Amino acid sequence: MLNTIKPEDLSVAYGLDSARIGNRPFVQRRLADLRGCFADADAYEAALSNDNPVLYEVTVVEPASGDGQLHYGLGIIYPGKIGDEYYLTKGHYHSYRPAAEVYVGLRGEGVMLLEDEATGESRMAVLKENCAVYVPGHTAHRTMNTGSVPLVYLGIFPSNAGHDYGAIAARNFRKIVVERNGKPEMINR
Ligand code: ZN
Repeated sequence: MLNTIKPEDLSVAYGLDSARIGNRPFVQRRLADLRGCFADADAYEAALSNDNPVLYEVTVVEPASGDGQLHYGLGIIYPGKIGDEYYLTKGHYHSYRPAAEVYVGLRGEGVMLLEDEATGESRMAVLKENCAVYVPGHTAHRTMNTGSVPLVYLGIFPSNAGHDYGAIAARNFRKIVVERNGKPEMINR
């Protein structure tokens, strides 16, 4: 196995400023890509008519695939809000529903919104520097920056997890996270 790992995938240097990894391809999402995600549609359209900023970027590293192997992504979410709702990721289930994930906070302050597919139970978990979040299987997860500097994190997941964006996009998360008295609070959509 070890001889199949490329040297550049064995030890990977990453920067916290851009959250890019060398020249590797990365996914970039701008405000226009997040249509339908924010609760305040008027605030969304008003913001978008003004500017189309980058909200987040993810670079994925896939050293090996197959049973027991891991992939991971380095993510950065920029600070900002639409109305009272923090800048967020689209959110997803894993295509292979039992697949769990560990998020490791590297810089900044944020939260994750977790939603159980079977029960609809929602929980908010703090993700920030020196803090890790466990996302169990069968759970939709979305990440938000609740601070004033970029939130940078690693997400580590089974190589066979896959990403299912459609199922949660079709009905959206039941809860939203908004700023109330300067702090994140989870409320009904
Ligand atoms: Zn995931």
